Amino acid sequence: MNVDYYTDAIRYTQVRVLEVAEEARIAGPAARVHGDVLVRSQVVGFKKIKFFTNENIGAGKLELPENEMHTTAFWITLERQLLTELPYALSDRQTGIFGLLYALESMASLLLMCDRRDLGTAVGERPPSPGVESEWQEFSAAMTDPAEMKEFFEPNLYLYDAYPGGIGFSEPLYRVHGILLRKTQELISACPCEQGCPSCVGPAGEKCEKTKEVALAILAKLCETRLEESVVPERAESRAETRMMAEGGN
Ligand SMILES: [Zn+2]
Repeated sequence: MNVDYYTDAIRYTQVRVLEVAEEARIAGPAARVHGDVLVRSQVVGFKKIKFFTNENIGAGKLELPENEMHTTAFWITLERQLLTELPYALSDRQTGIFGLLYALESMASLLLMCDRRDLGTAVGERPPSPGVESEWQEFSAAMTDPAEMKEFFEPNLYLYDAYPGGIGFSEPLYRVHGILLRKTQELISACPCEQGCPSCVGPAGEKCEKTKEVALAILAKLCETRLEESVVPERAESRAETRMMAEGGN
């Protein structure tokens, strides 16, 4: 049998913030945060992806037990104003957010010198109180069916530590967020693909023509230099990066 596709799990992941350790505002307007979270995830299906073209050629349902884990996470909250200022349709904004998070995960694992699987990602709504908790499923369904589109009001883009209790990835990411954002920007803009690929914002799906463009538009806002940040010379930042690489923390 000639199999020209691979399967990818469709995972439903929900993150609940248990405790904020540190939080600071960044350009955007946005915020960077790290703290304790509860991650609930479940594989609900799979999709078949064609090699080379990354075309989605089929899907199926699976029912695996739900998994719950207490761990730590670093996240960025995109505030309402940032999203409303983006001159893109709702569906483009949504795919742009997921594409951006995919690229952030790649860059974060490079900076932390860990495996991509050591980090997990999820998008959720702030504030993630039980009453207003949004479900990943609604948004992943929305990616394929615009009729089900539901807009994030103020999305939290989570990069969580994929080990129970956390093994120390979140605080370093919080510290080097500036480097993380700028390197992610470089990664996406330097990628020669047209609509996204596994090396930048993830495999391009249907209706994802603008994923790269929107991800870069969000990053441009997050990387806007503010006075208090611009006083840090480039050399000091590379030193900070080297130190972080060497110590894996702070
Ligand atoms: Zn690419």
